[in-house]
Amino acid sequence: MSISEILSRLKNGNQKFAHDKLSGHNKNSMRRKELVDGQNPFAIVLSCADSRVVPELIFDTGIGELFVIRVAGNVANTSTIASIEYAVAHLGTKVIVVLSHQNCGAVTAAVKGGDNDYNLNHLLAHITPAICSSGDNATVDDISKKNAKLTVLNLTTRSSIIAAAVISGKLEILPAYYYLESGLVDFL
Ligand SMILES: [Zn+2]
Repeated sequence: MSISEILSRLKNGNQKFAHDKLSGHNKNSMRRKELVDGQNPFAIVLSCADSRVVPELIFDTGIGELFVIRVAGNVANTSTIASIEYAVAHLGTKVIVVLSHQNCGAVTAAVKGGDNDYNLNHLLAHITPAICSSGDNATVDDISKKNAKLTVLNLTTRSSIIAAAVISGKLEILPAYYYLESGLVDFL
């Protein structure tokens, strides 16, 4: 699939999900057997870990179609970047979606601030630039969208593999925002 075909596939899949028309394809024993010796996912999704945000369902995909990395706040850190680099360099995946969402608990915690102990402090520090570059009246949802956009930038500034793929036209990275109730994804 070309990049534009992949984007159409994601958008069409999301429409099916939002309208309760999931296809249920590529989820059976035959599909598992086909993929034993390799994978060829058409898109990478860097998503929040939130249980309400399930990329494979949101885009109506089955086994082996999405390379999904989930971390609270969908942040670009060393581990998520390295995982994405694998899919770009070794699987030839052409599209990355950074999927933020409505009512994100990680962004809410980052906005609230304070001491959340070592591990969570470290994770939430990745969201601080989005807070700082948003206006005083910005909502948590505004900051989530900004965070997705800054994460897209981080992926290219912090990874020569990802940057080279973008520059050569082999890879496109898109920030996106998911609405919990409608099930729809806005590409930002
Ligand atoms: Zn979240």
